[in-house]
Amino acid sequence: MSNDRFRDFSNGGIAKRLGVPRIPVLRRYAPGQPLLDGPALVAGSGRFAKSVAALVTEEGGTVVDEVGEGRVAAVVVDLTDATTLDDLAAARAVLQPAVRALAPSGRVLLLGPSPSEASGVEAAAVAQALDGLVRTIAKEARAGATANLLVVDAEATPAAVDSSVRFFLSARSAYVDGQVVHVGVPVGSPQDPPALDSPTEKRLDGRVAVVTGAARGIGAAIADTLARDGARVVAVDIPAAGESLVAVANRTGGTALQLDITAEDAPARLVAFLTERFGRLDLLVHNAGITRDKLLANMDAERWDSVLNVNLRAQLRITEALLDSALLGDGARIVSVSSQSGIAGNRGQANYVASKAGIIGMVRALAPVVAPRGITVNAVAPGFIETAMTATMPVATREGGRRINSLRQGGLPVDVAETIGWLGQAASGGVNGQVVRVCGQSMIGA
Ligand code: NAD
Repeated sequence: MSNDRFRDFSNGGIAKRLGVPRIPVLRRYAPGQPLLDGPALVAGSGRFAKSVAALVTEEGGTVVDEVGEGRVAAVVVDLTDATTLDDLAAARAVLQPAVRALAPSGRVLLLGPSPSEASGVEAAAVAQALDGLVRTIAKEARAGATANLLVVDAEATPAAVDSSVRFFLSARSAYVDGQVVHVGVPVGSPQDPPALDSPTEKRLDGRVAVVTGAARGIGAAIADTLARDGARVVAVDIPAAGESLVAVANRTGGTALQLDITAEDAPARLVAFLTERFGRLDLLVHNAGITRDKLLANMDAERWDSVLNVNLRAQLRITEALLDSALLGDGARIVSVSSQSGIAGNRGQANYVASKAGIIGMVRALAPVVAPRGITVNAVAPGFIETAMTATMPVATREGGRRINSLRQGGLPVDVAETIGWLGQAASGGVNGQVVRVCGQSMIGA
C-alpha cells in the first residue's frame, strides 16, 4: 500500500462499483524495462523525426506512422519546421486520433521551433502556439499519460536532443508533465554514450556525483538513482544525520561526507575531499534544504538567515569554490533543487520562497557563464512530493496538494531523482539554464 490511500481505494472493486474516478498508478522505471511498452507513433516533417524513429527502434520499440486499431505508448510529432497556421492544422490532424489511442502512462512529446528564432510574425505565433497546445494536451490526457514540448534551436542536431527524447519517452519522466524545455547546441564536447546492451541504462557510468542532503528524503533517492545508473556518489549531510548518511553511502557503494554546508570552511573541505579522492567532479546536486515557516509579519532575522544560508548562500559559495577549482571539467553538470513554491510563492514561507526563487536566478545567470567550459547548470522544481514532510501535513492540506495537478497524485522522491539523472548526463549538454518542474503539471504557479 502507498502513502496515498485514496489512490489505492480508487483502484479497488468497491470504488469501481461506486463510480469513484480512478487515480492512475504511474508506470515508473525499473532496470531492464523497455523504453516503451507499446508502439510509438512518430510523425512530422522536421529534421528530428527520422532520428527519433531510429532511437525508438534501437531501444527495441516499434514505430508506426499512423494510428491503427490498437493503442500507442507514445506519440512524437516533430514540428520543428512548422511556420504557418496550415502546419499547425496538420499537427492537429495527426494529434487528434493519436491522443485518443494513447495507452495508460502514454507519452506525447512535441518538438517545436524556438519562437525567438522564428523568421516572421506568423512563424513566431505558431511556435508559441505549441506551448499552449502541449500544456492543454497534458491537462486532457488520461490514465497517467503526459505531454511535454522540446523547443529546439535551429542549430541543434539530433545528438543534442537524444537524451531528452529518451527521458521524456521513458517511465523515468512519470511525474514530469506539461513542461516546455529548451534544447540548444550542446555545450562542451559531446561524449559518446557508453556502449551498453540497453542504451537507456547506466547513462552515468563512472561519473563522480556529489549529492547534498543525501541522508534522507529526496536526497537519498537521488543518491540511489544516480548510483543505479552507474555514478560514484559522494553523499553529503550534517554530522547529526551521520548514521543514515552512512547507510545511504553503503547501499549505493558510495562515500559519506559529514559536512554542514553552511560552515565557513565547507566549500574548501569539499574541494579538498574531492581533489584527494577523485581528482574531479562530474555532477554536483544541490539538494539540501530546510524550512522555517512564519508569515513575513512575524519573520525574525534568525529564521530568515537560517533558511537563506542553507538553501541559497551555501549553494552560491560551494558552486563558486568548485568552479574556481579544476574539479569541474568539460561535461560537468550542476543541478539545483528549487521548488514550485519558488515559482508561485507560498503563504508563510517568505524565507523559503526567496531562497528557492533565488536558485532559479542563480541557475539562469550561471548557465551562459559556464557554458564555454562545457558545464551546464539547471534547476528542478518539485511540486507535491510524498516525503516524511508531506506525510505530516494536516489531512486537508495534504489531499489538496496531492490532487491539484493533472495526474491527481503526489510525486515520489524518485521522480525528482530521475529528472536529475537526465540533466546530469554528459549527453544532456543541450539543456542549460532550464527550470524543469517535477509536479505532475500542478496548477500552482503554472
Ligand atoms: P528533508 O528534510 O527530508 O531532507 C533534507 C536533508 O538536507 C536532510 O537530510 C538534512 O539533514 C539535510 N541538510 C539540512 N541542512 C543541511 C546542511 N546545513 N548541511 C548539509 N545537509 C543539510 O527534505 P526533502 O523533502 O527530501 O527535500 C529535499 C529538497 O527538495 C529540499 O531542497 C527541499 O526544499 C526540496 N523540495 C521538497 C519538496 C517536497 O515535497 N518534499 C518540494 C519541493 C522542493
